[in-house]
Amino acid sequence: MPRLLPALLDTPDRPALRFGDRALTHGRLAAVAAPLAARISGSSRVAVWATPTLETAVGVVAALLAGVAAVPLNPKSGDSELGHIVADSAPEAVLAAADAELPPALARLPRIDVDADAAVPDVVPSLPPEPADPATPAFVVYTSGTTGPPKGAVLPRRAVSSTLDALRDAWRWTEADTLVHGLPLFHVHGLILGVIGPLRRGGAVRHLGRFSTEGVTRELSSGATMLFGVPTMYHRIAESLPTDPALAKALGSARLLVSGSAALPVHDHERITSATGQRVIERYGMTETLMNTSVRADGEPRPGTVGVPLPGVELRLTEDDGVTEVPSDDPEGVGEIQVRGPNLFLHYLNRPDATEAAFAPGGWFRTGDMAVRDADGYVRIIGRKATDLIKSGGYKIGAGEIENALLEHPGVREAAVTGAPDDDLGERVVAWIVPADAAHPPTEAELADHVAARLSPHKRPRTVRYLEALPRNDMGKILKRALGDA
Ligand code: ATP
Ligand code: MG
Repeated sequence: MPRLLPALLDTPDRPALRFGDRALTHGRLAAVAAPLAARISGSSRVAVWATPTLETAVGVVAALLAGVAAVPLNPKSGDSELGHIVADSAPEAVLAAADAELPPALARLPRIDVDADAAVPDVVPSLPPEPADPATPAFVVYTSGTTGPPKGAVLPRRAVSSTLDALRDAWRWTEADTLVHGLPLFHVHGLILGVIGPLRRGGAVRHLGRFSTEGVTRELSSGATMLFGVPTMYHRIAESLPTDPALAKALGSARLLVSGSAALPVHDHERITSATGQRVIERYGMTETLMNTSVRADGEPRPGTVGVPLPGVELRLTEDDGVTEVPSDDPEGVGEIQVRGPNLFLHYLNRPDATEAAFAPGGWFRTGDMAVRDADGYVRIIGRKATDLIKSGGYKIGAGEIENALLEHPGVREAAVTGAPDDDLGERVVAWIVPADAAHPPTEAELADHVAARLSPHKRPRTVRYLEALPRNDMGKILKRALGDA
């Protein structure tokens, strides 16, 4: 098997990681990770206390070198969630920065301190051979818990290498790229794409610690080429652009701006493009599948779509029965996205029931996301089957396009759309709004007319609820199940 991270040995002098004012080259990363890898070798799983620090990256690289599956832990999780993850994944140890204070839920785990500044000989280390079997687990990553309690997805090494190589192709991602990163490191976006991605390419990543528009400006103005973010970050960027010419200039100079983890509202796409001349590329992925689709770096931008299937990924839309395919030339045909390919997880840890339910015959993974396809194959996600598909008056309505329409109203800052039981319609459309000006929120009638005029009358919200903020998780995803009854 070729190495997962060849640059550790091949280009040791190139910059690899920078967190604040601390940095490592690929060679030093190899040198500090190698002794740790030797220490954990023979384990089957280790937890990594995933603070946004160099130590997290070193711990994960050590696990990859040792062929031990890494279980990234969210340092902001409460004790009961951490207790669940530790009991479920049964790691043999936890890797953490020496100065990290670990909570009681981890007290029973042997702790291994990681020090990215450890004194190591200044020679290229000899690294152990990596596992020969591409199905060897590389990570156990817990899903975001948007629709239910998080499940541990066991990701094989081939899923990591194949997804990152498909993105190399789609994004023209090379060793010359330096990524600006402001995401947490315990989900696939921040960890596998944002840290392992640049390392596999032989390029570099600079982590902001905490996302800020000032940090984005600083890094993109001093040599960084790419930005990965979630929609809440691009929303903050879109809001800042009119009064921040330095940010607009920095974004304008970037090679690639990528958004994912949730849908980026069309309104934010448009505001960013008009202020910077730059488009944001959307990609669509999940913990269980890593990346499935993306707008290509050389492809036509089309806000509101997540692009086309990545190389090696098969994608189809299916009817409610989970097997009948929606014809690929029917642009009106709504179906559940199913995918197949080397990017898929192996199974959910300790959840054979959930694993079985997640696959259709033929090895197709049911994503739970609903979409339509443009005539040339661009995928438009309309929402999740469980929470975003509203069956009203005989129509199937996707929450996403109504949210996009509401966000174009100047009086709306944030919007989420759900369905509520209705005697006449089956379900009725409910809009949850954070008004731009709490003292003068747009009225229910005004919003209903706005949506009816833009989309069609049956998509207008019948009920509007006003909130101060939408409930979101730490990736900025809207937690619709926390919205409550309309
Ligand atoms: P859980 O599975 O625990 O309910 P989750 O599905 O939010 O949580 P993740 O695996 O982190 O956990 O997220 C994957 C989901 O995020 C996808 O199924 C999809 O609904 C959504 N998603 C990711 N990227 C995009 C995108 N570009 N546009 C729209 N939705 C996206
Ligand atoms: Mg999910």
